[in-house]
Amino acid sequence: MTNLLCQIGIHKWSKQKSYNIFSSNVIDFKKYCLRCKKVKKWTKIKTRRLDN
Ligand SMILES: [Zn+2]
Repeated sequence: MTNLLCQIGIHKWSKQKSYNIFSSNVIDFKKYCLRCKKVKKWTKIKTRRLDN
């Protein structure tokens, strides 16, 4: 019964962790629910600053 909120889609997310792979132009992010252990992953494209 403790996962009732999870069942309706309200998860208690952990801190997100990022995995920065230097040879790649994306950063992987990962976080998980502290109650039901559901894992959420997503990627973000690295943005580069152009100083010119
Ligand atoms: Zn959950």
